[in-house]
Amino acid sequence: MSTTHILEEKYLTRRVLSMQESQTMRISNLAATMKAEGKDIVSLSAGEPDFPTPDNVNQAAIAAINAGFTRYTTNSGIPELKQAILEKFRRDNELEFQANQIIVSNGGKQTLANTFLALCQEGDEVIVPAPYWVSFPEMVRLASATPVIVHTTLENEYKMTPEQLEAAITPKTKVLVLNSPSNPTGSVYSEDEVRALVKVIEGREIFVVSDEMYDMIVYGDVRPFSPARIPAIKDWVIVSNGVSKTYAMTGWRIGYLAGPKWLINACDKIQSQTTSNPNAIAQKAAVAALTGDQGIVEERRAEFEKRRDYMYAALNSIPGFKTALPQGAFYIFPDVSGVFGKTFNGVVMKDSADVAEYLLKVHHVATVPGDAFGAPENLRLSYAASISSLEEAINRIRGAFK
Ligand code: PLP
Repeated sequence: MSTTHILEEKYLTRRVLSMQESQTMRISNLAATMKAEGKDIVSLSAGEPDFPTPDNVNQAAIAAINAGFTRYTTNSGIPELKQAILEKFRRDNELEFQANQIIVSNGGKQTLANTFLALCQEGDEVIVPAPYWVSFPEMVRLASATPVIVHTTLENEYKMTPEQLEAAITPKTKVLVLNSPSNPTGSVYSEDEVRALVKVIEGREIFVVSDEMYDMIVYGDVRPFSPARIPAIKDWVIVSNGVSKTYAMTGWRIGYLAGPKWLINACDKIQSQTTSNPNAIAQKAAVAALTGDQGIVEERRAEFEKRRDYMYAALNSIPGFKTALPQGAFYIFPDVSGVFGKTFNGVVMKDSADVAEYLLKVHHVATVPGDAFGAPENLRLSYAASISSLEEAINRIRGAFK
């Protein structure tokens, strides 16, 4: 055992020892290192749009700096931004909230971490359907609660059924996590599917944390439906969203949360003692994003849809790959178990980590192995990359598994 390891075991808390490092970041870092070494890497591991932040957003930030808007703001976010968020919920999601039901945080990540810290403690169970976004189980563990993973199938487009939900509920169940559109599968629950899940938990004192980060990136005639639309459980639903993905603003760190006033107050209290307000300049930029011309959102959505169509057809034509059609977000999540046990270029593929490592090290394509998302048979590919990069990646992957 190394000295570092001995010190970690001796001094770190159980809380932090039980957490895992973000796998998506690990692969991105490895790919970045190889790139820096001069290797020609095609990276499909990014969790962010490849587009720039829109100019009106940048200009609003510059104006904020020039106006000296560079000091502490109200801990929970400036009133102007809360108004813009209320209007966004009305316009895009048919949801009505009051300003005191909104808190702005440092990215969607902080809104969710605050929520789990406020709602969960030792002994509580949180139902997390898999494949899941990497941070859900770790945030639940950080709050000393227990994630209860429900495994979904490709045949069911990686969506949890009401029967699976019913079977996962125990007297300890405190929260159900829904993430639609999903990172990593791109699945979107239809209105009927959301209603069927809600029927199972209605009247049972179970909260729904609904992560709607990709709500504006959906394809065809698919429309996401928030569980907060259902009056019977509205007081039990917490909606998390942000400007990161819709407006290509991942580095600005603005997320927002809507829910019952008492819970928002609790998140406000946690935030006031940990980070204080989110960045003042970024809040002004977020106002411009949410209230400005929304044409760019549709343009980019349409571009993602073309890439989705290309990737779906291309990946399904590779022997050993089986892929569900993503209906939103910008990820595709093939089941690659068809190549497990086979040898390529002298490398045996035991699991998707082997597949990802082989693709990166030998063929210079960066993807993310599915075990980070609770799905060891899959690989996550992000199509937040130009069509020419995607074509190059597909040629390399096809060549890799010849
Ligand atoms: N929720 C999901 C499903 C995500 O994929 C992400 C980012 O990858 C987040 C939340 C966090 O977003 P932010 O960058 O605003 O913290």
